[in-house]
Amino acid sequence: MKLFSSLALLGSIVSETLGHSLASRDDSVGFDPVCGSVVSSEAMDLSRSRTEQLRRNFRRDPEDIYQGPIQTYWHVLYANETDDGGYIQPEYISAQMDILNADFGPSGFSFELRNVSYLQNAPAWQLLNLTDANTVPDILAPNRVGDYRTLNIFTASAISTGGTANQTTIGVASFPNFDDAPFPELNSSVFVVHWSLPNNAGAKIPILPASSDYTFLGKNLVHEVGHWTGLYHTFQPNLTTQAECDPVNDQVNDTPAHIYIRELNSGNSSISCDVMPDTCPDIPGLDPIHNYMNYIVDKCRFEFSPGQIARQHEQMYLYRGVQAEGYNGPEDVGY
Ligand SMILES: [Zn+2]
Repeated sequence: MKLFSSLALLGSIVSETLGHSLASRDDSVGFDPVCGSVVSSEAMDLSRSRTEQLRRNFRRDPEDIYQGPIQTYWHVLYANETDDGGYIQPEYISAQMDILNADFGPSGFSFELRNVSYLQNAPAWQLLNLTDANTVPDILAPNRVGDYRTLNIFTASAISTGGTANQTTIGVASFPNFDDAPFPELNSSVFVVHWSLPNNAGAKIPILPASSDYTFLGKNLVHEVGHWTGLYHTFQPNLTTQAECDPVNDQVNDTPAHIYIRELNSGNSSISCDVMPDTCPDIPGLDPIHNYMNYIVDKCRFEFSPGQIARQHEQMYLYRGVQAEGYNGPEDVGY
């Protein structure tokens, strides 16, 4: 029975994954890598009121506030020791951690890699389906290390979050506040496809259109850890038309609301990082195309805004009990 359900699980993941690449994918739109941490306006409202309450009534033993590098554990889910099999050479993980630390430098957070575990198992582990009921008890819970303030990073060749066809999920993360978590049971974890590391190793699943020349520079993990530290997408709540442009947006003052531009995320090498679009012209400010929390090619992303950093500080303090350098406590709002 156990064998049968494992095979059934594997079959459903493989057929879904291949279905996206072979049957549903429309090559004319190019590569469209997306993130599974999409939050509804209702969840954001609930989360905000919870944060406001917590800010007013914050109580935590000062001994239980942690200052220092965030303890980080990396888990490689792989089928065999090849790039295509999900394997990652240790030096590539080390290079990715250097990028994570450099990009979080202005936020005042740092990450100390304590261990890399190589978890070889059936291909079902390599194709991580976060909507499957077996994934948490069978794969994630037994391997996750530490507590709510410990960062666990899982990599796999493919991640399924039950998203839309023609879009490729390359990462997903849990938020500090359970009320806005798309997958609350994954409470302290971040997931990225292994081929989004800067060395760009491994076959991409679903298979990329030949027209795409997307080059990953390690910003996918920075984006996902951005969620883990409390940030939403800069185009919240998933804007698609100008009528939806909403000044509340991602609940951060200095990231102007905008519409996600698919073309800028496609990997087309002619994309310029210097031309700032204005997709919500009635709202002050140009689109934040250099922001890690946007969907845009890695080469354009190099900053968190001061408001995002202030939000990260508060979220990490209130929910994970981690105090960043330069943060003075719940009265220090600033975003
Ligand atoms: Zn995201």
